[in-house]
Amino acid sequence: MTVLTDRLGRPMHDLRISVTDRCNFRCRYCMPREVFGRDFAFMPKEQLLSFEEIERLAKIFVSLGVKKIRLTGGEPLLRKNITFLIERLTQIDGLEDIGLTTNGVLLEKLAGDLKNAGLKRMNVSLDALDEKLCQQINDSGVPSTHILKGIHKAKEVGLNIKINMVVKKGMNEQEILPMAEYFKQHDIPLRYIEFMDVGSTNGWDLKNVITKKEIYTLLSAHYELEPVDPSYIGEVAKRYRYKGTNTEVGFITSVSESFCSTCTRARLAADGKMYTCLFATDGFDLKQLLRSGADDHKLTETIMQIWGARTDRYSDERTEETARNRKKIEMSYIGG
Ligand code: SAM
Repeated sequence: MTVLTDRLGRPMHDLRISVTDRCNFRCRYCMPREVFGRDFAFMPKEQLLSFEEIERLAKIFVSLGVKKIRLTGGEPLLRKNITFLIERLTQIDGLEDIGLTTNGVLLEKLAGDLKNAGLKRMNVSLDALDEKLCQQINDSGVPSTHILKGIHKAKEVGLNIKINMVVKKGMNEQEILPMAEYFKQHDIPLRYIEFMDVGSTNGWDLKNVITKKEIYTLLSAHYELEPVDPSYIGEVAKRYRYKGTNTEVGFITSVSESFCSTCTRARLAADGKMYTCLFATDGFDLKQLLRSGADDHKLTETIMQIWGARTDRYSDERTEETARNRKKIEMSYIGG
């Protein structure tokens, strides 16, 4: 089989599928309440891709080289019967891996069902251990103890867990060390994520970004870290290990060390639009094509054309101007 590549020679290896644009958190750096308030028009149900439609598209993406799928959102665990979708996706021939990214609110309740549906691994977002600070950041009153219960439950049922922590100046830098210590003790990999200029409603400013280098310097004063080789080309996190242990800590450096040259990710938003960059402004409406009766051949051709024409390298080219003025799609819509 010839490998489908884009105009910069990058294969299509991963697919992120957003299954809903709704979330039960209102993190200020992602879905600030003043924008995503009571009156915000989320997608009506009929606009969301159905599970059948997602499965059909996923099979086509896999036939074109996708090996990994990640379900995200919004909050993917809010999508009713999400385990049915996972069961279907795990049966796709050629798909090697399915992951899910969640804020963990519903994890304690759903961990067992997710595992039984065939899910193997999961990223849980947690930005602070401090109770009050955690509640403040998610702006929904959910304390860290609740998320931690979900994390431990997920581990107990045998799911592979990684923690994602967005670090933003003035928001949670005092939590960098406590988070490292806690998850080191529990042997759960933690990844620090640089605050990104996704969307256009989160008030992003370069001066609020705490870089990998700064976090690494802080950690190195307390722990001896050694680099871990990437497990595959295009791996997003820069990984390290606490010396003398197998416990890892990593960094997602979209702002300070962009990784566009190895970006192999396609994205499907909850309304069926396909995007080829997290920082995109426009997508292609696959749902419309699908619902107008297009056969698999037509859908395959279309996806090949979209990927084949891809030249995105936003993070390589980011400037203060693009960060501020480009009308990018929101993270809650496309999924992280
Ligand atoms: N609701 C799920 C969750 O909380 O993990 C999945 C969707 S959420 C958009 C995916 C990830 O994106 C989360 O880890 C979140 O913290 C992160 N995120 C959202 N906005 C971000 C930003 N501006 N910069 C960096 N990461 C961000």
